[in-house]
Amino acid sequence: MLTDTEGWQGGCLCGSARFRLADQPLALLYCHCRMCQRAAGAPIVAWATVSAASLTWSGTPPRIYRSSPKATRAFCGECGSPLAFRSDAEPDRLDLAIAAFDRADLLAPDQHIWVSSRLPWFDTADRLPRHPTDLES
Ligand SMILES: [Zn+2]
Ligand SMILES: [Zn+2]
Repeated sequence: MLTDTEGWQGGCLCGSARFRLADQPLALLYCHCRMCQRAAGAPIVAWATVSAASLTWSGTPPRIYRSSPKATRAFCGECGSPLAFRSDAEPDRLDLAIAAFDRADLLAPDQHIWVSSRLPWFDTADRLPRHPTDLES
């Protein structure tokens, strides 16, 4: 886990949207769901679950897209980088794209969710817990 607070910041590809955390992430995971795949244009998304109260945006605020009746996604309106996912059911937390962190190298996920949607040609070489759907299952 990342303990250097200078590492708890990041932003989009163009640098317009920046974020900073006041506390360390609550969880680190890979999501294989189809919506993350489409939203990121990638076979998988690595997410850092963070406390909403610990997060501060700076620069140009990200644009918000309602991706389902239950959730929204945030992305940079300038460069399109996917940045965040937020479930309406859990307004006190949200997920930030680990790849957007300045020190993404230090934030290694420790579990997989929605493995039931994993693309058959993509897998990671690890023995981390694999949940068929969300964490509850
Ligand atoms: Zn940008
Ligand atoms: Zn997902």
